[in-house]
Amino acid sequence: MAGCAAAEAEPVAEGKRIVLLGPPGSGKGTQAGMLAAELGVPAISTGEMLRDAVTLGSELGKRVEGIMNSGALVDDETMADVVRARLARPDARDGFILDGYPRTLPQAETLSSILADGGRTLDRAILVDVPEDELVARALGRGRADDTEEVVRERLRVYHEKTEPLTGYYEAREVLRKVDGHAAIERVTERLREAIG
Ligand code: AMP
Repeated sequence: MAGCAAAEAEPVAEGKRIVLLGPPGSGKGTQAGMLAAELGVPAISTGEMLRDAVTLGSELGKRVEGIMNSGALVDDETMADVVRARLARPDARDGFILDGYPRTLPQAETLSSILADGGRTLDRAILVDVPEDELVARALGRGRADDTEEVVRERLRVYHEKTEPLTGYYEAREVLRKVDGHAAIERVTERLREAIG
């Protein structure tokens, strides 16, 4: 296997630049972690990056804490900076599984242009589909500090309004796959493996 030092001369690898789409509580975070380990690429969770910033008390963390706690979305410009910096790191060059980004159409455009700048394209956007009442039950059972029922419902509302349209965006670009996420974790992982191909 070639070392990192040769990275600049290497062709850009195909097939491993993946976005996981799905509502809060769909299990995509868990799946992203497992599949990324299998594929040898980083799982990049923007929610986790923001929570780390909040824990650190950084300038970014202070700016986003209240927004996150309300279930609303952080603005697209801030998220563009976060994702651009993360995707510029060498471990993401030949692949990644993005979990929680993009969440709006402008974010999807930003991701396309970040990738295009590096001569890359997205290989797959996979929707992890789960019925609504199952989502609420799962999200509340997860016990995260920001997961009160009111916030869970707000996060679902925002998902339907802002994020769901991304399935059409990626369908038009012929990279969309849909996976039934209403099953045991292992079964969903298998379905995702098939969708990745
Ligand atoms: P998550 O862990 O992906 O559910 O993200 C937790 C929270 O972080 C969200 O409810 C948003 O407030 C914020 N967040 C994470 N990713 C994004 C994003 N791509 N765009 C806007 N806000 C985000």
